[in-house]
Amino acid sequence: MLTAPLPFIDLQSQRARIGQAIDVGILRVAAHGQYIMGPEVKDLEEDLKNFCGAKHCITVANGTEALAMPLMAKHVRPGEAILVPSFTFAATAEVVAWLGATPVFVDVDQDTFTMTIESLEVGITKAKALGLKPVAVIPVDLFGQAANYDLIEEFAAADGLWVMSDAAQSFGGAYKARKIGTIGQVTATSFFPSKPLGCYGDGGAIFTDDDEMASVLKSLRVHGQGSDKYDNVRIGLNARLDTMQAAVLIEKLKILEDEIKARNEIAMRYSSALSGNVQVPVVAQGNYSAWAQYTIRVPAQKRPTIMAALKEQGIPTMIYYPKPLHRQTAYRDFPVAGNGLPVSERLADEVLSLPMHPYLDHASQNRIVETLISIQKAHQ
Ligand SMILES: *Cc1c(COP(=O)(O)O)cnc(C)c1O
Repeated sequence: MLTAPLPFIDLQSQRARIGQAIDVGILRVAAHGQYIMGPEVKDLEEDLKNFCGAKHCITVANGTEALAMPLMAKHVRPGEAILVPSFTFAATAEVVAWLGATPVFVDVDQDTFTMTIESLEVGITKAKALGLKPVAVIPVDLFGQAANYDLIEEFAAADGLWVMSDAAQSFGGAYKARKIGTIGQVTATSFFPSKPLGCYGDGGAIFTDDDEMASVLKSLRVHGQGSDKYDNVRIGLNARLDTMQAAVLIEKLKILEDEIKARNEIAMRYSSALSGNVQVPVVAQGNYSAWAQYTIRVPAQKRPTIMAALKEQGIPTMIYYPKPLHRQTAYRDFPVAGNGLPVSERLADEVLSLPMHPYLDHASQNRIVETLISIQKAHQ
């Protein structure tokens, strides 16, 4: 190997930029001692609201609970169906099953990787045919790009469904004039370290403009509390974001806009160099992606060779996701829209995510692009 291996995600460069400020924040929390629901938690919630324009922000312990709690607030129950894409991370469907409801898997678009309206329609018909009551849809902003919300919202409204946006990968991006965090009845995001806005552990947040939903979510977060700590008015959870993570996020949020801009520039450079050689990701008109991942498509039978050859040259790649959820052991008995989900299945065999982070310099990126093109040519 000629040069050192590149990182897939580079959190150390970000530490070189703002690590000192983050450490000061962490030590401030260590000193004041309000480790649970300390002042930084409130401050962060204010900052997050200001950033995206949502009326309420409820920070929580992780992105999975951020997805589950709105379902609890809406009293989702057995016999109800919630439409989710199959080509996503397990948490999107997992939370539906937690409540005894039925996730119904729908297919995605091969260019944008997000839910299609055609498959959503088939999924709703299928749910009804099975005697289930469709109540909600959870579009996923996969790899950082918002789903096709105008059509989904119109469709959902016509069928009486509510919409929760799974924005675990897209916070910091936008859909047309709307910032991520303001779409659907409620938006859930994650601050897992590798997400566009990540903390130093687990974290998440829920955004909504609905006052009633916000107050129920705040209660659910602390064991269903009522007027005080030892008044329990509903079955809740312990789903608080800890104060130290809030201190980390306060500093990271200050540079998020700048980092998302850098990710967009890097994605643009990738696409102009790679298009014509591999299938590059497509950003729909009006979308501003947070570029959680830069994901290309290569012929399925060549993918293992391409991955291995890149690895040999010190270039890490990842497969998100190698198996669509409707093929997973835990989820294979849930219904799917129509006769299988052909696009999700094909994508699982073809996708390949390249290194992507805001600190990917031109030299490293050229190295990735040139290596990939030469491997591609050698295996034509
Ligand atoms: C990461 C992720 C989640 C879950 O977030 P955690 O903070 O890891 O619980 C949910 N949905 C999607 C699409 C994700 O990428």
